[in-house]
Amino acid sequence: MLNVLVVRGDGRFIRWISLPRGVAKLLLVVAVIGSIANVAALVHYASLYRHHATLVATNGILEENARVLAPLRRRLAEVREEMGTWDSLHAAVLKPLGGQPRGAAGVGGPALAIPKGGKTLDEIDVLLAHVREESRRLRTLGQMAREAGGVLAALPQRLPLRSGINSGYGPRLSPWTGRPEFHAGIDLAAGPGTPVQATQGGVVRFAGTAVGYGESVVIDHGAGIESRYGHLQKVAVSRGQRVERGQLIGLSGNTGRSTAPHLHYEVLVDGRPIDPRRVTREN
Ligand SMILES: [Zn+2]
Repeated sequence: MLNVLVVRGDGRFIRWISLPRGVAKLLLVVAVIGSIANVAALVHYASLYRHHATLVATNGILEENARVLAPLRRRLAEVREEMGTWDSLHAAVLKPLGGQPRGAAGVGGPALAIPKGGKTLDEIDVLLAHVREESRRLRTLGQMAREAGGVLAALPQRLPLRSGINSGYGPRLSPWTGRPEFHAGIDLAAGPGTPVQATQGGVVRFAGTAVGYGESVVIDHGAGIESRYGHLQKVAVSRGQRVERGQLIGLSGNTGRSTAPHLHYEVLVDGRPIDPRRVTREN
């Protein structure tokens, strides 16, 4: 038996309560278990409190990310739209340069389509691929521009002498046979002994007598471009000589296959004649 003294706060009630020993033990066990449970709850609460703090911080970061991400996506869309105009720009630049670049495997960049439900990273990957392709295309364009610059610098942009054209470039009736023939150059009216000038700087590839052309000169201007001057009375340069644009290379005459004194003038690109008037800017 265990006696417990119960006293009220104001001291007016005092009583002894007798508890059987078994009940007292049970109460003690309940008290101990209650204390342990309290401690466990306290530990758990502390852990929850820490988790809550972490969640609040994470939420802040997420909100910040969302704030940054929205304008980022908008700008990505703008970049994509701007890059979408590159294809038409390329076409516009390539057209006067003769279209497809030599040795280039196509000029169309990768499609700018973003996979449906694509993430921002997918979008950036697509744009990155497009930018890399663009670098390749720009290098090709740069190469073409350099080549075009070389061709422009080599084109004879003037006539070898100032005068009218007796006979133009292209199909005509032969003044010898009366039958159709192809005139590979133009015939410039020129009395015997008229000074003939190089139409562009270059190196004399031929100077002497050639079948049909008589006394003639061929100048190599580089980039596959040559000019030829025929029916000369006198040749004033020799093979391998460097000549400047406008330099005297001979005097016009009536040698070779010629009906009357005049200057036969040709421009050749990669060995094929073109109409000299197509490239002439001066005279
Ligand atoms: Zn001719």
